[in-house]
Amino acid sequence: MNSHIQIFDTTLRDGEQTPGVNFSFDERLKIAKQLEKWGVDIIEAGFPASSTGSFKSVEAISQALTTTAVCGLARCVKKDIDAVYEATKSAAKPRIHVFIATSPIHRDSKLLMSKEQVIASIKEHVSYAKNYFDVVQFSPEDATRTELPFLIECVQTAVDAGASVINIPDTVGFSYPKEYGEIFKTLQDSIKTDHDVIYSAHCHDDLGLAVANSMAAIENGAKRIEGTLNGIGERAGNTALEEVALGLYVRQDHYGNQTKINLAETKQTSDLIARFAGLRVPRNKAIVGQNAFSHESGIHQDGVLKNPETYEIMTPQLVGVKTTELPLGKLSGKHAFSEKLIALGYDVNPEEQKALFKQFKIIADKKKAVTDRDIHALIQGTEHEQNAIYKVETLQLQFVSNGLQSAVVVIKDQDGNTSQDSSIGTGSIVAIYNAIDRIFNRETELIDYRIDSVTEGTDAQAEVHVQIKINDQIVTGVGIDHDILLASCKSYVEAHAKYVAHSTTEEGMHS
Ligand SMILES: [Zn+2]
Repeated sequence: MNSHIQIFDTTLRDGEQTPGVNFSFDERLKIAKQLEKWGVDIIEAGFPASSTGSFKSVEAISQALTTTAVCGLARCVKKDIDAVYEATKSAAKPRIHVFIATSPIHRDSKLLMSKEQVIASIKEHVSYAKNYFDVVQFSPEDATRTELPFLIECVQTAVDAGASVINIPDTVGFSYPKEYGEIFKTLQDSIKTDHDVIYSAHCHDDLGLAVANSMAAIENGAKRIEGTLNGIGERAGNTALEEVALGLYVRQDHYGNQTKINLAETKQTSDLIARFAGLRVPRNKAIVGQNAFSHESGIHQDGVLKNPETYEIMTPQLVGVKTTELPLGKLSGKHAFSEKLIALGYDVNPEEQKALFKQFKIIADKKKAVTDRDIHALIQGTEHEQNAIYKVETLQLQFVSNGLQSAVVVIKDQDGNTSQDSSIGTGSIVAIYNAIDRIFNRETELIDYRIDSVTEGTDAQAEVHVQIKINDQIVTGVGIDHDILLASCKSYVEAHAKYVAHSTTEEGMHS
């Protein structure tokens, strides 16, 4: 049996349960493709029975991926299992993840089921799923707060019914490494089986122990780790998969087993998800934070210059942090620009390159030195706009009086239809946002507004993030531009575009 540590990514399922995170259909597809490139073994693409949107994106991801297994989540409910079957049937490797809560608090307060009823449900639904899937994964939700003898009984029932992957969720982030590791050891010692069973860890970071708990599971025989990029997820988030992958790599002397992750794609994957989620990675975040490889103190800098290994246990290149020294400028030509794109790892076709070069010239006219970060922002911004459902055609602002501003906004949809409206407000942003609300004819509440400078200097490009509430649904938008007002306008239009009236099942999304 293959003994590498499998990486099960749930960025699109558990990760999307992060408050305010709402990936669009296109973003989900892009993330899935990038995760395949990064080398994850399984992608949990969604919870198909929960909404039409989730069903459709699981279906599209199943069709798009060629090597990575695609998994859908299901409660112990037949229609959930049917939905996963329908949504994943075109996948190269379709998978299902069936779960039911097993802890006393969940049995008594949420499910209102006795132990016997829980056991009967596991038997019935794992067997049912096994009719459709070669590989069935079962999770006893809130496993770490489940009485150990009952947990063993649940797992034995699932294994007898045909489950070949047993995932142990620390659903509320309650466990600590020694305790969590011992659960894995006990299960492997106790479960009787005539087929191979893989044990999998799924941790939450409420006490900051998600990665440590996952590593303890590996030390105790787990062969699969579930988590998300950048550790995004409900509350304090999930296990940060990039930390697990690098932990196993850097300390292979201890852990032995490796993942199949393509480490050089780590930074790019993290960046993509941070951008689509609208959640900036903290600067000091391990592996992917902006400061993860910078040295401030003189002694450290001196050491690193003499020999990087004095203070670096891994290089930035290992995880795909790409930088080149020389900035471009006004006089840089097509050739220099093209060379720079290659050096930064972009594979752009000649036509796109022509359009990008024009944009680059505009930036070079405004900025003396066009740095690597400017180029990254340029490409990301352009890509972002190409995929936008609505484009901002015109934004006009006028000072009225007494601090009042008026704004005229014209937007264009993908079929070329334009809509426009105008409004006044107590400042430019308020005026712009009122005008956009009028275009979409919706009542909104602004939850969050944030400007990040993507690049260095006072002439930096701005990245504006907004979060708005429409009919109790929180949606986010991002806009990148040199002009802060235009970036603000773009981000707000994107948030409106992301609003979809959809229904989600109320219970049980919290495995
Ligand atoms: Zn979870």
